[in-house]
Amino acid sequence: MLKNDIDWIYDKNRELTSDPSNVENVNKLLNNKGCGFCLAKFTQVTMHLGTGHVHSCHHPKMHKIPLVEIQEDHRALFNTKHLKQARKEMLTDQKPSECDYCWRIEADGNLSDRSFKSSKTWALNKHDDIVNYTGEENLNPSYLEVSFSNACNMSCLYCGPEFSSKWTEDLKQKGPMKVLEGLGENERWVQGWQDLDTLNYKNRDENPYVEAFWKWFPEIYSGLETYRITGGEPLMSKETFRSMDWIAENPNEKLDFSINTNLSVPDKLWQKFIEKLKKIKNNKVKGVTIFTSCEAWGERAEYIRRGLDFELFKTRYEELASLGNVKVVVMAAYNVLSISSFQQFLEWQLEMKKKYNFNSALLWWEDNVPFKFREGPSNVELKKNSPSHILPLGIDIPYVRHPRFLDAQISTDQLVQDFMIPAMNYMAYNTIDNKWMMHTSFELNEMYKLKQITDHRMSITHSIEPGTPHHYKTIILPRAELYDFLNTKDIRDGTNFLEVFPEMADFYQACKEAKELVISKSK
Ligand code: SF4
Ligand code: SF4
Repeated sequence: MLKNDIDWIYDKNRELTSDPSNVENVNKLLNNKGCGFCLAKFTQVTMHLGTGHVHSCHHPKMHKIPLVEIQEDHRALFNTKHLKQARKEMLTDQKPSECDYCWRIEADGNLSDRSFKSSKTWALNKHDDIVNYTGEENLNPSYLEVSFSNACNMSCLYCGPEFSSKWTEDLKQKGPMKVLEGLGENERWVQGWQDLDTLNYKNRDENPYVEAFWKWFPEIYSGLETYRITGGEPLMSKETFRSMDWIAENPNEKLDFSINTNLSVPDKLWQKFIEKLKKIKNNKVKGVTIFTSCEAWGERAEYIRRGLDFELFKTRYEELASLGNVKVVVMAAYNVLSISSFQQFLEWQLEMKKKYNFNSALLWWEDNVPFKFREGPSNVELKKNSPSHILPLGIDIPYVRHPRFLDAQISTDQLVQDFMIPAMNYMAYNTIDNKWMMHTSFELNEMYKLKQITDHRMSITHSIEPGTPHHYKTIILPRAELYDFLNTKDIRDGTNFLEVFPEMADFYQACKEAKELVISKSK
């Protein structure tokens, strides 16, 4: 079966995946080749050059790229023996074990990312070639995500030394971190079990993986449809600026270029970034997207994302939003400490969307009738300022599951009642997906992310009986761990949880009681 054997439902303004019947058809197309066939394995890669690890896609566990393989052929960056073996299995009706993330979802009768990722243009357009491969080919990706190093000036609570040199520095200075220490099998490492000296190539060191990357990149560049730079903090890596210079000199009209940044680097680096961004955003690539992260409001956000200056974050966010033709997406990594100020964060996001996103449903009318449809610049003017993007500002709400003590499922029912449900209501009331007001409020898919998290948290109250072993393992132990974690961080960093989160005092008390219960059970 080939791609054109299927009647796809097309809407030029939307991803193919926005129509469920398309994704089901992709699933049929894939299964026609094999039960574990997935186009992402052949087209998408995430590489962490600071440690020399790679995975394809980002779900399977990373594996180390053997140095000897890239010394023989730099194309091994995306064609390790490990990856070729997984591709061979997919082409011969097998399911590679490293993709168990998808197999578990499919075992419950649902469509997995195997179908969603394979529906993306950068994957699906290659289908008819890939079905004829053997798995031995040296392939070029169409979707490349790369982290050049772990250099970062922040140490967010949910991050660690693999991704942040600031975390590494703190662990070296203040020692490794454990929770429930001395409590037998409950004792757990938080950070610091790693060999901090050899974990990452330093930003300034010679790195054979980065060297191989720059031999490989010019060869694959013209076929790339997505190039995304992550970190660490990418603006602290000279390779990021080298990439931007490369793009400025080598336009690629098919390319979506994106960078994840914490918006918190020193001013000199920020200015350098803005200057380079201006050179590429309008006519060197198909589109530029800047991803950033924040998931709480004000000092609560600063408590979670150590090193963040929240006011500076907002200022730089608006600087990007008003630059024109740059899409800005906030990834709000929802965790238990997000709960109490998430609505405030959403309120600000809504204000930004109303200010900078345009109503694409009314563009034609604005051009053809003398009415005014909004305050400030017209939709047509905003669209002119951002021709490459239908939706310049967006929000994604990934759910933090690790470390497990930051998972919002350990929150108390009171927090759900007082904050989580009101924030959910707020977002749902401000979600618009109709043909009169498009893209000036939250999108359906944005709201669904929060709904999934809220549904999940409510299902915990519904299905986990307090006092049972399941409750102890899922709620009590992680709360006890969080109690230790917050106290240790407060001592090490000079912060004070209860001063920043007074509305969470009852929850903190519940965590303290959980720790006492764990102690009494350990005796
Ligand atoms: S099967 Fe799933 S985990 Fe494996 S590459 Fe595809 S999307 Fe990723
Ligand atoms: S800014 Fe990103 S890389 Fe740095 S500590 Fe935070 S999450 Fe980790």
